[in-house]
Amino acid sequence: GVSDYFNDLFKDNPYFGAGFGLAGVGVGLTALRRGAQLGAIFLRRRYTATLEVPSHDPSYAWLLQWITKRVGNCQHVSVQTALEQSDSGRIITKSSYLPSVGNHFFRYGGTWIRVERNREAQMRRERTGETSPFESVRLTAIGRGRGVFDRVLDEAREMAFQAREGWTVVYKARGAEWEPFGYPRRRRPVESVILAAGQAESLLADIREFQSSQRWYTDRGVPYRRGYLLHGPPGCGKTSFITALAGSLQCSICMLNLGEYGLDDARLDHLLNHAPPQSVLLLEDVDAALAAQARLAESPSRYSGMPGISLTGLLNTLDGVTSSEGRLLFMTTNYPERLDPALTRPGRVDLYVRIGYCSRDQLVRMFARFYPEAGMEAAKEFANKLLISDSIDCVESARISPAKVQGHFLMHKSDWKAALDSATDCLTVAEAA
Ligand code: ADP
Repeated sequence: GVSDYFNDLFKDNPYFGAGFGLAGVGVGLTALRRGAQLGAIFLRRRYTATLEVPSHDPSYAWLLQWITKRVGNCQHVSVQTALEQSDSGRIITKSSYLPSVGNHFFRYGGTWIRVERNREAQMRRERTGETSPFESVRLTAIGRGRGVFDRVLDEAREMAFQAREGWTVVYKARGAEWEPFGYPRRRRPVESVILAAGQAESLLADIREFQSSQRWYTDRGVPYRRGYLLHGPPGCGKTSFITALAGSLQCSICMLNLGEYGLDDARLDHLLNHAPPQSVLLLEDVDAALAAQARLAESPSRYSGMPGISLTGLLNTLDGVTSSEGRLLFMTTNYPERLDPALTRPGRVDLYVRIGYCSRDQLVRMFARFYPEAGMEAAKEFANKLLISDSIDCVESARISPAKVQGHFLMHKSDWKAALDSATDCLTVAEAA
């Protein structure tokens, strides 16, 4: 029949026979290749370790800098320009090379490490609605265990902190993330912010005491954090002092204005619990946000779609904020009397400090610091021209903020006699920002 016919045809036809033979070799090769692939996957899984760091992780920038140093003579680089702002406001640029997108290799502690820097076509959408390319670095090390990455990350962080010494990085919230704001600033000496006699010293002593008592907190199960409320009129040095303080503690500073548009309880909570390591938190104008909330409660019909933060939300967040290195949290307000007592109880606010208008002693010290060549007599005369006595009433009614005094000095930068002669201009001069 028909099948016999086909059998005969195949058996005797040499072309068909060879065809089957070739197909067999093909199948065999495919199986081998597949086997090799599986083997490679197995080996990679078992005998290599990988670490992936996405660009929105704080250690991404450190790691990239560190890799650059390691990969050293790498020929494929991309440029990164750092901007720094000096006190005079002049901007200095510094360019450095980073390994470009692609693969690089280096040896670290006897292990070969492959670096892949990836840039995805996919964009990352920030909470603010802005987008940026999603980037990551992936390190692959030969050998078992991730121990090598612990050392790499430690070293990278150490290097980044060393480079940062003498500079204070200010972070501000962008969406749900902290981002460096502006350019790193040269560290401001704490002594350059002139507060009422003894105030700076007692604040510093309190912080030192806190930082050396981690045991006390852990033994008692108390969250390891300390809250400070600085209050007083604007331009008296609240922000400057906290920034200088952060610098002297070799910390960066994370600033958040609670009245900021778009801030709600969830974002606040996320931000405060994800502050970069070694940073001091500063919540500005704590009264403003809560005042808005109170207005909303009074007339809910005027609800505009922006929930803002609530007192309960703020309290819950504050209670949850902690960190193993000890969290320092500063709050500032111009109107402490508007704050809810629940916010200012111990554990949330441990120390309450008023940073007020210039006393006579402060005026003397400011003048002497600005014009060291003028001598103490001139400094005292300057203060006497502005304040007859050091009494609270006198200081409060004169309302001279250090920002105004600084503004006055800036108008007579190199002429202390003129600054002294026109001392009373302080009362009308615009505040220095
Ligand atoms: P605040 O946070 O109390 O509103 P800032 O710290 O922002 O005040 O100060 C505004 C400006 O005034 C800054 O440029 C700062 O240098 C200057 N200034 C304010 N207070 C002092 C002070 N006590 N000593 C020296 N400078 C001060």
